[in-house]
This record gives sequence, C-alpha cells and structure tokens, in this order.
Amino acid sequence: MADSNTIDILAIAAHRDDVEQTCGGTLLRMKALGLRTGILDLTRGEAGTRGSADERAAEAAEAGRILRVDVREALDIPDGRVENTYDNRIKIAQVLRRLRPRVVILPYWTGRHPDHYTTATLGYEACFAAGLSKLDLPAECGAPHRPYKILYASLYADVRPTFVVDITPHIETRLQALLAYRSQYGEQTSGAGLFVPEEDIRERMFSTARHYGLLAGVRYAEPFVQREVSLVNDLMQLPVQSL
Ligand SMILES: [Zn+2]
Repeated sequence: MADSNTIDILAIAAHRDDVEQTCGGTLLRMKALGLRTGILDLTRGEAGTRGSADERAAEAAEAGRILRVDVREALDIPDGRVENTYDNRIKIAQVLRRLRPRVVILPYWTGRHPDHYTTATLGYEACFAAGLSKLDLPAECGAPHRPYKILYASLYADVRPTFVVDITPHIETRLQALLAYRSQYGEQTSGAGLFVPEEDIRERMFSTARHYGLLAGVRYAEPFVQREVSLVNDLMQLPVQSL
C-alpha cells in the first residue's frame, strides 16, 4: 500500500496558478473521493508582470490549502524559459519517483504560451524517464516509477476534450483558490488591459466551466484530453445522454 508520502494524482504546471485555472476543481473532486493529490509548479513566477516570487509562493501555498492538496512543490526552472532539457527532465523525474503518482495531469501540448506547451512535452518525457531503471538518480528519490495515466488539461486549448470531470459541487472553492492570487487578480488600477478584476474572473471561470458542463449534461466541468482510446466493459453504464 502507498505510504503517507506518496500521492495518487499529481498536476504538473509551468506557473503558479495554472492548475487553479485548468484543473483545480478536478483535484478537489479527487480529494473528496479520498485520494491524495499534489501540484508541482515548474517555475516560481519571478518573471511575472505583477508580484514577486515570494508573494506568489505565499499565494500558491494559500491556493493549495484551499484546493486541499497534500503536496505542493515548486522547482527552480526559470519563469519564461521552460525548456525540455535533460536537467529539467531529471528534476521532474526525481519528484515523480518520490511522490509516485498513478495519474499525472499536464497542460495541453499546444497553446499560446511556450512555457505551457513545453511543459506538456517536458512532463511527458520526465514521466518516461522516471520509469527507467538505468536512470541513475539518488536513492532517496525512490525506485523507478512510471505513472499509469497521463492526462492533458485542455481548458485553454481550442480542442474537443476526450472527457470532462463534473466539478459542480466544487466550483465556488475552485474560484476561491484562483482568487488567492491577489497579486495577479485583485482589483488593481494599473495594467487594466492585461488583468481583469474579480467579477470578470468569476464570470469567465463560471461560463467556461458551464460550457464544458453542457457538453456532458452536467452544470460545471473541466475538460481533459487523453491520447489513448477509452476501454468500455459495459455499454449500459456509458454516461452522457445522446439525445
Ligand atoms: Zn501559465
């Protein structure tokens, strides 16, 4: 059985607040099912337009508390320069061997921000590397481990999701986690063209979640893509009504 330091689901993202924007409700739902969850942010936000890395660390800790994650860590990959290098794959592989998640959530592999789509490839290759017995990492990282399932959070990608997760009971908590990033989202007078005030964030988040919920006949949902086909054992148990 898993020991208390390992987790079931790990969301890996380029920036602090990415997880809150794409799959925070899903982490809350998994937690409600009794699973252990975690977040690995690859950067610390030092290149952000607003807020210092220290401020964002405090905000990330608060958001993680609201999302009820068991683990939240940040690597030291430079913000705005997430690159798929051997060193970066090793950094992530060490975390994967230590936390041993069965499910890893990555950002979708195309998008506007290079850090995001690079994280998809970098994260995938780190998952692969973590399972290689020949990859010689310090023993304290743990034995080789390869996650069973890799999913891509596709909320900001213009693609049809493979499935959505019903987050209806968790939507308010998810919003609170996002709003924990005061330095990014609080009502501010400067830079209004780039940052929207709180009520706009609420409206945007709810309408996006509603859109994905409608695709599956629930109120609010978050979208995911998986590369594998789905396996069905019982046609009678297939969810989502056709007409
Ligand atoms: Zn981001």
